[in-house]
Amino acid sequence: MLFREFSEICERLEAIPGRLEMIDVLARELPVLDDRELPIFVRFIMGRIFPDWSPLKLGIGPNLLYEAIAYVAGMKKEAIVSAVSAEGDAGKAVERILIGKEQTSFFAEELTIGDVYRECEAIATSGGKKSQREKLLAVRKLFANARPLEGRYLARLILGELRIGIGEGNVRDAVAKAFSLEPAKVDHAYQAMNDLGEVARLAREGEKALSAVHIEVFRPIKMMLAQQGSIADMVKEHGKVAAEYKYDGTRIQFHKRGGEVRIYSRKLEEVTNALPDVITKLTAATSHDVILDGEAVATKDGRPMPFQFVLRRFRRKYDIEAQAEKIELVPYIFDILSLDGETLIDLPFHERRRRLEEALTGHVAPQRVSDDPLSLEEFYSAALDAGHEGIMVKDPGSLYQPGVRGKHWIKVKPEVDTLDLAVIGGEWGEGRRAHFFGSFLLACQDRGRLLAVGKVATGISDEMLATIHETMKDLVVSRSGKEVTFEPQVVFEVGYSEIQTSPNYASGFALRFPRFKRIRDDKGVDEIETLDSVRSRFQRQSQS
Ligand code: AMP
Repeated sequence: MLFREFSEICERLEAIPGRLEMIDVLARELPVLDDRELPIFVRFIMGRIFPDWSPLKLGIGPNLLYEAIAYVAGMKKEAIVSAVSAEGDAGKAVERILIGKEQTSFFAEELTIGDVYRECEAIATSGGKKSQREKLLAVRKLFANARPLEGRYLARLILGELRIGIGEGNVRDAVAKAFSLEPAKVDHAYQAMNDLGEVARLAREGEKALSAVHIEVFRPIKMMLAQQGSIADMVKEHGKVAAEYKYDGTRIQFHKRGGEVRIYSRKLEEVTNALPDVITKLTAATSHDVILDGEAVATKDGRPMPFQFVLRRFRRKYDIEAQAEKIELVPYIFDILSLDGETLIDLPFHERRRRLEEALTGHVAPQRVSDDPLSLEEFYSAALDAGHEGIMVKDPGSLYQPGVRGKHWIKVKPEVDTLDLAVIGGEWGEGRRAHFFGSFLLACQDRGRLLAVGKVATGISDEMLATIHETMKDLVVSRSGKEVTFEPQVVFEVGYSEIQTSPNYASGFALRFPRFKRIRDDKGVDEIETLDSVRSRFQRQSQS
């Protein structure tokens, strides 16, 4: 399939308001693609280039992209940046720029989606010092052959967001419809494989091929997530429930086959090298081939340390061993997803727990199974006394649902007034801090839109400010005086004293006394606070 044809499909989908019609249009496109193109097309249409489990990352930020476009269009990079900020969308701005260039261009070749994929793969695998320069040349080459409409979707694809309004669920339904299968069957295979592209290829082979899908070691799957809730509601709904401490560390997915071991973070990035002590502890605890789910907690003299200590470990690229001696990371394993090649996610939790206890000696997170709210409250107090965040209450009959923030896992913790928000803008600092961004504009989400809800400038140490600057400097998409707009990729946890209504921010709310707590490296922008939850916090606060 030509990338031009792909872009035309995107344009058509972008104009369709209804979900069902979108699914229809997409379902008609899938069967005609060959086995090589089908997975690429399905991933592209979701705005992704590589499977979620893949370690390959394109690593091209707005800066490098705009530099490449500037070269291709014979313009200054600043002109591209202001075109993007005037348009409010990189894709549309690039399209407009390429229209201007089109009359004078001679297109040597038409790009196929396979070409684009292969070029991206080459970019993602090019390491070493030269890689920035190589990346720039490769991106230039892609755009040199792109017509305006292709430019719109190529730019968006490179930035990781296609903005055609078709969510993962709709693509899944289109795959099911295209090959006359039940969406649940497609979904199930997707949960295990973590790559809807590959699942689409199997879907064409039929239901049997889909059902044969297994979780594979070294192919991380999405982690099951929790909602906020109460002990009383869980007991009312399920009777006997399983409670565990809620550890304030970092989520780990531990994969082991024979003597080989890898660990993945909640974002499914490989973090094996940062966690030598966790590896030593877990390899000593099992001789089986496993995929385990748990939390690694920074510990000193037997007491848990705040989450920041874990982060410090991830940030330090060197000297990991020395660092490991100072802060001990202890794994607490609470689930098992695969044991000696057998996929376990479809077993009820109590059965998985039994298998976990058999497979692992030590490091299994203690559990209290009870239908007595008083006993569970007591367990909750004990968790807080021991310095943990609270407890997790789980439905013992529930299956492991990768990526789902459902009602089967509930977190119970003291009401703390913090929000996880995306950083969408900032302002340069003053005086001593003039070389860094000094304040940050924050946003919550509402059905895919990011809406500003306040600014934060306090609570940030000089060291943290430098770290933040390092993280954010490549995410600047536009500048105006001292103000900058960021590509929304970073999440801050921010404390506040009160939520107020405000005409100053797009959300209609503002935070009183916002205070920076930490960067949530483990959370993506799709996991930030919703406008609904900001509103309900506001309402709760006005009732109390
Ligand atoms: P939150 O990040 O506040 O949405 O809480 C969910 C996170 O709590 C999970 O992603 C885990 O990293 C963490 N967690 C800590 N202890 C547990 C546990 N016993 N079971 C499940 N998740 C846990």
